[in-house]
Amino acid sequence: MALRVAEEWLSSCSGCEIAILNLGAGLLELLRRIELVHIPVLLDHKYFGPLGDGDPDHPDIPEAEVGIISGGVRDREQLETAKLMRQRCGTIVALGTCATHGGIPALINQSTNAELFERYYRGGPTTDPGPDPDQVVPPMLERTYALDEHITVDLYLPGCPPHPDQIAEALTALVQGRDPVLPRKSVCDTCPTIREGKGQLSQVARLVDSPKFDPDQPLSQMRCLLEQGLLCMGPVTAAGCAGSREMAPRCLSARVPCRGCYGPVRRQGNQMLDMLNALASNGVELGSLADRPGLLRFSGAHGRLRPRPAPRKSGE
Ligand code: SF4
Ligand code: SF4
Ligand code: SF4
Repeated sequence: MALRVAEEWLSSCSGCEIAILNLGAGLLELLRRIELVHIPVLLDHKYFGPLGDGDPDHPDIPEAEVGIISGGVRDREQLETAKLMRQRCGTIVALGTCATHGGIPALINQSTNAELFERYYRGGPTTDPGPDPDQVVPPMLERTYALDEHITVDLYLPGCPPHPDQIAEALTALVQGRDPVLPRKSVCDTCPTIREGKGQLSQVARLVDSPKFDPDQPLSQMRCLLEQGLLCMGPVTAAGCAGSREMAPRCLSARVPCRGCYGPVRRQGNQMLDMLNALASNGVELGSLADRPGLLRFSGAHGRLRPRPAPRKSGE
């Protein structure tokens, strides 16, 4: 009998669902062994009955052996949906860095809700000021949470989005009743660039600066971008974007530094602290780093990014 799989998206962009589709022909093969019983971003689903006459307090999500959830938790409706998925599904998979570490939506954790509502409902120069929304839209939680801050997660598939190879491996392993084989190293461990050694940096280059490389030469002939002075987060970012066919990390293939989208190497690691350590041990003057919170742009949940203190008034 096929493995029943339900999927939900919370505070997300649907890129993780596109990554599922990017399995391509592999998805057709998997669909012989799994049944997608619920995936609202791809298949229509009526939560409250076909005519909207179901129980308004109990949305309908079918039971499944596996529940995949993308996105973080930002509002009350998403929280209820996450809890309902936990009740209805045997194994919960957190799909994508938004679900595992908050992802890009958790950047908003640098502001309080009061600051955000003030800025967007009353501070816009091109819109009329209005009150905070309190109807139709679900109430906001106080910040963006990773999934495991509210429900138990059984399997983590980080990445923005995760590589289809890891999604295929996870689903295949669940069908076969075994543990999936997933990457455990850093992006640097899958990067073929030339590393000559530490201690050659003094400051981090500006983001607009370009690396030096010969476009006619393969990536293996380019010098490590961190050693060139660019802020490459490969040392503190989980591997996986290279896929399982010994390809290079995605951004490095485009001669662009890693921005950290797979989250920390250790699930509970702190990309900002780890990167500051890596830079300091390479002799970098940390004052040359323009944007420290930006080192958490993909992993700002779990209390890592917090509202900035209000500026002091003169005389205080
Ligand atoms: S992890 Fe990336 S691709 Fe997936 S929902 Fe979040 S922003 Fe979109
Ligand atoms: S720091 Fe960046 S360029 Fe250097 S090895 Fe790591 S991933 Fe590659
Ligand atoms: S190189 Fe880094 S930022 Fe780019 S896809 Fe891979 S993990 Fe994400």
